[in-house]
Amino acid sequence: MSTDPRPAVAGGSRAEEAALRDAHRAETDRLLRSRLDLTVVLFLFFVGASVVIESMQAPTRGRPVMLVYALEALACLLAVVACRLPGFPLGPRAIAAGLASTLAALLSAYNASVGGSVERLAMAHICLLTGIAVLLPWGWRAQLVVAAAAFASFGLALPHLFTSDSLLMSVLALVTGTTTTTWGALFLERYRTDAFLRAARQTEETEIAATLMRVGETLDAHLGRPDMLERVNRLVVESLGCEWSSIFVYDEGHQAFRLHSSVGSSPAVVAELAELEFPWGSLPLLDALRPGAVLEMAGTGDQDLVHLQSASRLKSEFVATMSHELRTPLNVITGYADLLVEGTFGPLTTEQRDTIERVRRSAFELLDLVNATLDLGRLEAGRETVERTPVDLDALFAELGGELDPLVLPAVALHWQNRVGGAPVLTDRVMLKTVLKNLVGNALKFTPAGRVDVTASAAGGALTIAVRDTGIGIAAEHLSVIFEVFRQVDGSATRRFGGVGLGLHIAERLVTILGGRLEVESTPQVGSTFTVTIPARVARERRAAGGDYRRVIQ
Ligand code: ADP
Repeated sequence: MSTDPRPAVAGGSRAEEAALRDAHRAETDRLLRSRLDLTVVLFLFFVGASVVIESMQAPTRGRPVMLVYALEALACLLAVVACRLPGFPLGPRAIAAGLASTLAALLSAYNASVGGSVERLAMAHICLLTGIAVLLPWGWRAQLVVAAAAFASFGLALPHLFTSDSLLMSVLALVTGTTTTTWGALFLERYRTDAFLRAARQTEETEIAATLMRVGETLDAHLGRPDMLERVNRLVVESLGCEWSSIFVYDEGHQAFRLHSSVGSSPAVVAELAELEFPWGSLPLLDALRPGAVLEMAGTGDQDLVHLQSASRLKSEFVATMSHELRTPLNVITGYADLLVEGTFGPLTTEQRDTIERVRRSAFELLDLVNATLDLGRLEAGRETVERTPVDLDALFAELGGELDPLVLPAVALHWQNRVGGAPVLTDRVMLKTVLKNLVGNALKFTPAGRVDVTASAAGGALTIAVRDTGIGIAAEHLSVIFEVFRQVDGSATRRFGGVGLGLHIAERLVTILGGRLEVESTPQVGSTFTVTIPARVARERRAAGGDYRRVIQ
């Protein structure tokens, strides 16, 4: 929804903190570039002054001191240029640390080459370290790198230096300088970061407060006017820089939120939203929007929630309506096809019969798809409620046998075995029937020749129904995906078997709703066994003819 490229700074979520830290890093890099220029100018100025003094006081050192100064100036120039080169692989922090380390090494090299004093070199390093710690906003790590370079080059130069006082005192001074400037860099960095974060939050809070004030003023000025909420929407779009804003008002009569006004959405979307009602609990966002509660959104990704939820809801309602509407003409097609096949309108030639049979089969396949879509729609909408009634398994098996009979190929034997006995089991009949119809339907579909065995048994308060076939089987790598929506082992357009890949997904979800589990074992070219296990109590005695089930269920 939002197109605002600024980092979100309100609240304290991790994403916002990360965005703020990125912004801080970018700001520090920008500052480092400009401060490096100043540091270079000051360095060249003061070292230049020392070069003049050195040349005057020790004319023999004139040439080496000028040479080293030229090298230092060259290093400074290269670093300043590198900092401005777009696409240079090193950031300003690394370039500045490299430059300062080079300068420290050149200072040591010069003093070693002319046999300078230990005290003078220690002093020069301390001046350099103090200067950069104060001038460059770069943190303790970079400072430590330069301090280490200064210390190492100082150590390498030592054998070539002389001391007029105490060597140890100079070393101690340098150690003090490196330690305190590194700590100093750490504290300065912390202070700068905190100040940046505080300022960013204050700016954001001020913007929020100003926006709220404008909303308040707008409400006040247009109170009671019909366009009041539309003006608020417009203000929201302007202030937040988002594409659209909608206000939903709670309708006590319908116990649901309804769209009141919207700005920025297309007329088609507004018309669709206006048709919908959103009760409490229908959208996660609505639950968060309790009167008096403050709502914080973690990131821009979450802002799409409302859009996605309403789009998904529209889709589900569309699919449900379409599927329902498709069922009636499909039933008419299959009905007339049946009448034709039965010869109600006169005898058919073999060709005509074949054609009608094909029409009938295709219509049944389509009907299966429509039914599966409706089942899935109900599951998605969470409308499935479990209604446990005593279920006579023999009767259920007989009913399923009749419905699935057209699928049984001549070379296949379908066996139903009820080892529970004649006692009814307490479960949701419609759900169990849908699950078994899908499993046995699949077994028959994927078994060109052989057996399909459906066996029901009960133990320990659980009903287990195994559907075993001697069909094509499923390879191990496909076993985990066949329960996903629209997943088929052979999903190609040229596949041998019909179906859309919804049956197992629906079956598994229904079994889960019933509190059970659906398992599969399969060996390619040998066969598959799908096993449903659901908690279901079994009656102790067989139902007396016409008797009441409730009396005999445990
Ligand atoms: P479909 O409508 O394709 O049958 P399902 O979700 O019921 O969809 O099954 C998904 C896939 O699992 C099938 O396409 C098939 O590849 C595989 N499958 C399911 N049952 C069996 C079975 N008994 N034997 C072999 N493969 C099966």
